[in-house]
Amino acid sequence: MSTPKSKTKLTLTVDKNVIEKAKEVANQKRVPISRVVENFLDFLADPEVYCFKCGEKFSSVEAELCPKCGWMICPKCKACRCGLSEETAIAVFHMRRVYEDLLSGRVKG
Ligand SMILES: [Zn+2]
Ligand SMILES: [Zn+2]
Repeated sequence: MSTPKSKTKLTLTVDKNVIEKAKEVANQKRVPISRVVENFLDFLADPEVYCFKCGEKFSSVEAELCPKCGWMICPKCKACRCGLSEETAIAVFHMRRVYEDLLSGRVKG
């Protein structure tokens, strides 16, 4: 999460249906819509991912890429695709696509 918490106003133009559904869900979860947007923008600027092996949460901006497989290396256990079987690597790859769809692009690499 980012440093000083000074707030600023943000005016957005979004699809009416999208915002109506989002507000409904936000209400159910009791989170203000501005918090949801803020969280997403925070994620966009500095996506944090969980290591598939040890579960450590780390910033993809700071993570190093493995020169061999091109995946982010976990700063804690140093795991990357190299230690995975083909089957597991494919599963992890597809799960990461959720982030990539959200960010309209690859998380990193
Ligand atoms: Zn790890
Ligand atoms: Zn690797």
